[in-house]
Amino acid sequence: MNNKYELIYEGKAKKIFTHDDADKVIIEFKDDATAFNALKKAKFEGKGKLNCLISTRIFELLIQKKIPTHFLELKNDNTMIAQKINIIPLEIVLRNTAYGSLCKQTTIKSGTVLEKPLIDIYLKNDELNDPLITKDRIQLMKIISAKDLEFIIDLTLKINIILKSFFENIKLQLVDFKLEFGFDSKKNILLGDEISPDNCRLWDLNQKNDTIVSLDKDRFRNDLGGLIEAYSEINRRINDFL
Ligand code: UDP
Repeated sequence: MNNKYELIYEGKAKKIFTHDDADKVIIEFKDDATAFNALKKAKFEGKGKLNCLISTRIFELLIQKKIPTHFLELKNDNTMIAQKINIIPLEIVLRNTAYGSLCKQTTIKSGTVLEKPLIDIYLKNDELNDPLITKDRIQLMKIISAKDLEFIIDLTLKINIILKSFFENIKLQLVDFKLEFGFDSKKNILLGDEISPDNCRLWDLNQKNDTIVSLDKDRFRNDLGGLIEAYSEINRRINDFL
């Protein structure tokens, strides 16, 4: 990155830099992958670029459908320009199919298609290991108002309708995903972060039997190999469709 831009924040998978316009930021996608609260780490050459391109396409689709997002434009293959937002320290997970932590923490069997989407909210706090949190605890901690929380939940449900049908068109089952939201300088709530196979579970629907073929970060979490091949396949299907 050109050194006239100052690094504001470095996360596990992205770096955020200042922009000439104080209301904007430059987001650089890294090749690093982490799992289990960064206990497991690796680098995959080309992952940053793939996630940036996939996220761009998805943000463009959501903007077309009138979802407010921070995305402004793609700068180059692994860098995008976005509205500067103050991230709300909550991770909003929406699940269409039971998998991952839901099945570890409940008696629901892995792979069960849920009757209606389930929203699980986690506190974004690495020291506390991102615990599952309740609406009442969110109010107690004064993280956001009840009204803003309802707005975010409603937006997440709308995003799910758009993404579920989009991914079905390219023969992918949207099992679950994690979203983050933030406030811009005018106090509007915008969808932030990224939408990529790093934070969505996507299963290949081109399988003849019921075998689960993950085309997402579970390839790294579960040591399945072929992460770049999986992310490239998603990018290819998106580009062939749009
Ligand atoms: N997820 C994420 N970041 C996290 C935790 C989860 O992006 O810190 C995503 C994950 O990729 C999946 C969804 O949220 O799409 C649900 O994850 P789950 O709660 O099942 O956790 P996991 O099994 O990954 O620990």
